[in-house]
Amino acid sequence: MEHQQEETSNIPHVLIFPLPLQSTINSMLQLAELLCLAGLKVTFLNTNHNQQRLLRHSNVQSRFEQYPSFRFLTISDGLPEDHPRSVEQFGDIISSLQTVAEPFLKEMLSDVVEEPVTCVIPDGLFYYAVDIGNEKGVPVITFDTISPSCLWVYLCLPKLIEAGILPFKGNELDALVTHIPPMEGLLRRRDLPHFCHLDDYKTDLNSQAVFKEIERIPKAHGLILNSFEDLDGSFLSCIRSSFPKTYAIGPLHFHLETRFAAKPTSLLSSSNSLWEEDHTSIKWLDAQSMGSVIYVSFGSLAVVSRKEILEFWHGLMNSKVKFLWVMRPNMLKGVESHDQFMKELVEGCKGTGYIVSWAPQKIVLAHPSVGGFLTHSGWNSTLESVTEGKPMICWPQYVDQRVTSRLVNEFWNIGWT
Ligand code: UDP
Repeated sequence: MEHQQEETSNIPHVLIFPLPLQSTINSMLQLAELLCLAGLKVTFLNTNHNQQRLLRHSNVQSRFEQYPSFRFLTISDGLPEDHPRSVEQFGDIISSLQTVAEPFLKEMLSDVVEEPVTCVIPDGLFYYAVDIGNEKGVPVITFDTISPSCLWVYLCLPKLIEAGILPFKGNELDALVTHIPPMEGLLRRRDLPHFCHLDDYKTDLNSQAVFKEIERIPKAHGLILNSFEDLDGSFLSCIRSSFPKTYAIGPLHFHLETRFAAKPTSLLSSSNSLWEEDHTSIKWLDAQSMGSVIYVSFGSLAVVSRKEILEFWHGLMNSKVKFLWVMRPNMLKGVESHDQFMKELVEGCKGTGYIVSWAPQKIVLAHPSVGGFLTHSGWNSTLESVTEGKPMICWPQYVDQRVTSRLVNEFWNIGWT
């Protein structure tokens, strides 16, 4: 008995701490599940707000029941319940969460807790977790959930500043960017994250977080990325030239699918969604012919104007190509007569298009009726599309999406932007 207890206490206990975003919760839950399958103890730290949504709309509760060594832990994000938590306030969300997470992590990593944490895997933007881990003597492995190519761009930013190239002056958005091998001759100024274009980038909350993140990476025990050598080998080698302990462990969703392929309940039916998935979209796809549908989704964060939606809607209707389109309830800029506007779009496309507020995306992309993906180039969406071999049309917005979409078009030749 004593021997058994000793054995359990020797099992590594990993604390996973994702950004409070759908995409990061997705990839970090996939990692958590793979670690549970490898026999490790895992604590998944989520915000109260997202945990409620996750439990309401996904099947994580029943799925993770099979792993007795797994548990969820929740903390407040420090914001009032009615806060919109939209992408425009991302900087505020992150700094509010920091005020709660810092003391929480300090306590979690102290040796007074019952089941001491032996390793922390935080999102790269939670740079302070690296400091806390080092102070408490607990190894921290940073998980950067953005694309490796964009992380490499971030790592090159200090060189661009030193060379007086950043912040970009003037409006030459098509000018090529130097100092970022192996993307020289490929990346244009317009492909870099938005804060590279701000005169006062130093005071921008997002850019501050990025600069702190890249400062901390060398202080972490390792860096993990959701990608694989065949896709991102050249960028991974660049990153490894500075941080040899960089591990490409993706595509995580694909590794899990492979683990479960032989089981009757495939991972495709598992969901980590913060919105209710509309499975009527699959019935609609079943009725379409092979490769005939374009799937349209701009992810979980993008906010789009009425004018932009109408432009896409008319373009799709005029193309006469069948489409399945995800329009989240909080996707439209401004709230005025949202319901009426959506109703008109849904009614107006009957026969050609099908609009849902959230789809089971992995099942959609694997569906034989889907021939292509009109995407915002979020990193998870890109990986999911790549593994299903679906070509992409890209309409990037934030963070790593512009770099990724440029590579989709010019480097990997698997789509257009
Ligand atoms: N997603 C989904 N259903 C949808 C739209 C998106 O399940 O209707 C999932 C998608 O599979 C992906 C994640 O949400 O895993 C979006 O992450 P991504 O990195 O592509 O973009 P972000 O939401 O961060 O902009």
